[in-house]
Amino acid sequence: MQWTEEAEAAVKKVPFFVRKKVRSRVEKEAAEGGKTRITLSDVKTTQANYLRKMSSEVKGYQVDACFGQSGCPHRVMPSQGLLKKIERVMIDAHLLEFLKQRVPGDLKFHHEFRISIADCPNACSQVQIKDVGIIGAALPGLTESPCTSCGICKEVCKEDAIQLSETGKITAIDRSRCLYCRSCVAECPTGTLKTEKKGYRVLIGGKLGRHPRLAQELPGIHNEETVVHMISDFLAFYKTHNTHGQRFSKLLTDQDISAFSRKWRN
Ligand code: SF4
Ligand code: SF4
Ligand code: SF4
Repeated sequence: MQWTEEAEAAVKKVPFFVRKKVRSRVEKEAAEGGKTRITLSDVKTTQANYLRKMSSEVKGYQVDACFGQSGCPHRVMPSQGLLKKIERVMIDAHLLEFLKQRVPGDLKFHHEFRISIADCPNACSQVQIKDVGIIGAALPGLTESPCTSCGICKEVCKEDAIQLSETGKITAIDRSRCLYCRSCVAECPTGTLKTEKKGYRVLIGGKLGRHPRLAQELPGIHNEETVVHMISDFLAFYKTHNTHGQRFSKLLTDQDISAFSRKWRN
């Protein structure tokens, strides 16, 4: 299909990663209208249709999870139960109505409050760029069962957190390096390693956009109930400080993150 120069110039202003999609959408809508040539007006019509549709699809929040529950062998924590509880909190927060009162003009997906859960530290669901990221965690510890110096734990630990003596026996786990992935516990043949505590790591303040930032971790491993309370707390902060639809991540200063760290430390 032919494009006028003006139409070409307009579509070139669309970000490159969605340009192809927008282009084919413009052509599809124009073809449905019986046109064989794309004008600037066709581009504008498609843009307006897209924004209207987006506005009607915005629900005020997004909660997603990795594919751990489909049988991923790396899974540390099952997250279906937590996912449902978080959905409930988000529904009860009536974020769509809240955003409609705060945002001047159409609501867009980037206004939504985003939460993501990953069932292990591989973080396939990109928790680091969400307002709230949650990662399944299993803290390893030592038992009285004798270590046979097999070295398997050292081999499987990608973080070099396992410390062995000269004779190859485990002496300690470096907590400052450990990501609580459970690999060492799962592979230890003697039961010398065990899981001491299971739960979730919580990160806040991640975002992409013009000023991207990775989410920062609040200290500790938290149980399901605490994570739900933390999210309610974050939502209360978000609603108090939000004046015109800013993302939670944008509202958070380093001092706010430190304050949340102190409040929820365990
Ligand atoms: S985050 Fe971990 S558990 Fe979830 S899909 Fe990725 S590797 Fe599997
Ligand atoms: S839990 Fe994972 S990161 Fe931590 S010591 Fe074991 S293998 Fe290493
Ligand atoms: S895997 Fe278990 S038995 Fe083998 S070195 Fe590590 S702690 Fe010891």
